[in-house]
Amino acid sequence: MEDIRRGAAAITRPQALAPQRSSEAFRPIHEVARQAVHPAAAETSLEEYKVSLRRYSPVQKGLDGLPWSGEWHCVKCGENAPGKLVHERGEDAVLLELCCERCGTWRERQHDVLFTGYRPPTAHPRQPEKTRSGFPIRPILGEWPKTVETLCPECSCLILGRSFVADGAVWMEKTCPEHGYFRDKVNSNAKLHELLSQRCFQDEAGLTRPQVSDGTRCPTDCGLCGQHHSTPCLGQIDLSNRCNLTCPVCFASANQAGYLSEPNLWTVVEMLKALRESKPTPVTAVQFTGGEPTMHPDFFQIVRAARAMGFTHVQIASNGILMSDPEFAKKAAKAGLHTMYLQFDGVEDELYRKLRGKPLMDVKRKAVENCRQNDIRICLVPTIVKGVNDDQIEPILRFAVENSDVINAIAYQPVSFTGRIARKELESKRYTLGDLAEDIAEASGADVERDFYPANLVTPISRFLEKLDGKPKIRTSCHSECGLGTYFFITPDGELIPIPRMFDMMKLFGGMNDLTAAIEARGPEARPTRWDMAKLFWIFLKSYQWGARDLRITPLGFMRALRSMTLKKYGRGAEGKKVYRTMMAAGMHFMDRYNYDTERVRRCVITYSTPDGMYPFCTINCGPSYRPYIEELNARPLES
Ligand code: SF4
Ligand code: SF4
Ligand SMILES: [Zn+2]
Ligand SMILES: [Zn+2]
Repeated sequence: MEDIRRGAAAITRPQALAPQRSSEAFRPIHEVARQAVHPAAAETSLEEYKVSLRRYSPVQKGLDGLPWSGEWHCVKCGENAPGKLVHERGEDAVLLELCCERCGTWRERQHDVLFTGYRPPTAHPRQPEKTRSGFPIRPILGEWPKTVETLCPECSCLILGRSFVADGAVWMEKTCPEHGYFRDKVNSNAKLHELLSQRCFQDEAGLTRPQVSDGTRCPTDCGLCGQHHSTPCLGQIDLSNRCNLTCPVCFASANQAGYLSEPNLWTVVEMLKALRESKPTPVTAVQFTGGEPTMHPDFFQIVRAARAMGFTHVQIASNGILMSDPEFAKKAAKAGLHTMYLQFDGVEDELYRKLRGKPLMDVKRKAVENCRQNDIRICLVPTIVKGVNDDQIEPILRFAVENSDVINAIAYQPVSFTGRIARKELESKRYTLGDLAEDIAEASGADVERDFYPANLVTPISRFLEKLDGKPKIRTSCHSECGLGTYFFITPDGELIPIPRMFDMMKLFGGMNDLTAAIEARGPEARPTRWDMAKLFWIFLKSYQWGARDLRITPLGFMRALRSMTLKKYGRGAEGKKVYRTMMAAGMHFMDRYNYDTERVRRCVITYSTPDGMYPFCTINCGPSYRPYIEELNARPLES
């Protein structure tokens, strides 16, 4: 630890420049404090691009943004028809006026929080009205059809769309005035989609000191601005756009860019600092990514610096090639690497040949073994494309269970399409969270409606722990449509038991949320009393599904399994044989321009720290895709 501290102290910073413009690449990044880019003042290609996305912005115009004309799905006959979204002043409602050739002219009321004062009955009673900067927070709408603020898949400009239910699925449709009509499946399981929107609690209220003070247009006023609802949960830093593979599904398109974007050690430390300086909650978990992050020449020093700066959780998103070298893995562990997010698309070499250009199963196995030897945890990260590797959900789960002494999570990622693709290809390759839940359920014996919850379900734990410790805790308060998952116990004979089978999750987390609210009401310094702890124990008891109890899982074993989720020494090695291991099977569906919803990105919790400040993941890699514009700030020719 001493040499880690010395290493961080030795990193010096060049003289700081004025911190206000995208064009000024060297500056203290954590001090970025600027205003949203004004059209007349756009200087860099990033600023010009942001301004160009606003040319329609119907939601920004308020009621003047309506009517919005386009082509729409007629629910009466199932065909498309011309029509417009209009505001009905008397009812303060948004209506779709359709002129259908078959059904005539008719009007359909839309659920709407973008133009009207409608407050959905499902809104949480403690839903905050505004962010800390005073920007209104619209509650999540779990009713369809509904209006959505979205992007054109072709030009990315902000337009108005509509989300509706048909054939048991949830869809999004929109018409760009320049590029026409687009429709895409948002979730193949409308019932699950609705349940997810009900299984969450109040939103957060954003940052205390956003980097952009006067943002009003999302996502063109990034990054992080006063409209943003969540606080960063997992920091991301791109270490290099180089890669030792050439994959068609890679977000970074590293080798195709034609330039090298590799921040130096000082810039990386600045980006780390921006995450640690985030208020009210300093970020404690960072993921180095790329390209392939292990290719950065100062990789070990960067990991050491992150640990020295107070990150308790340092992880990499890697293809595992360098980690398959025992010496490299040993050095990474010694530097302080905690977790590897291992790119893992399946268990067959043929698949890797097709997707990644090389047979890679041997590399993956060696990387897993090296992590085992060096006490590094693994989360498998499969990118799932329908018709390509959606048949790998079960084999991947089995591989994880067989290696559950070192693998404790799978983060499936339904494919996110960058740029425009043909409608037929979109329909055949689109894989949604509903498909994922069904495939995991089939592979594990879980129940889709009972066992799957949104990623934001666990925010009450953070709220309670914050009161218990008196220190801010990160909160995964993303939109309920962003991610879902379930937790399993793994019995000693390898059987998977979904935890929601034994606990009523809404009783448990809702009870914890209410208890924390009662403690908070006693004042900012209030801490849980013994009586509160007794209440918490009672909430646990009440939530236990006594009728569904599994005699193979004793209460003591359950408590030890819970500890294994947070403490390394439990659930590992000889100690691990005495406890039930756990496995998280989850998925995050990163948006693309087809299914983009600004209500989701405003709640994004995965935050890139870049030379231009902090940006949500779904603005960097998808949607407006700011990545190449930001890389330009830091790029140099490939041969250097
Ligand atoms: S994504 Fe967040 S930071 Fe970016 S403009 Fe929207 S609210 Fe602001
Ligand atoms: S990265 Fe995208 S999908 Fe994930 S929380 Fe952020 S907005 Fe949602
Ligand atoms: Zn019709
Ligand atoms: Zn367009």
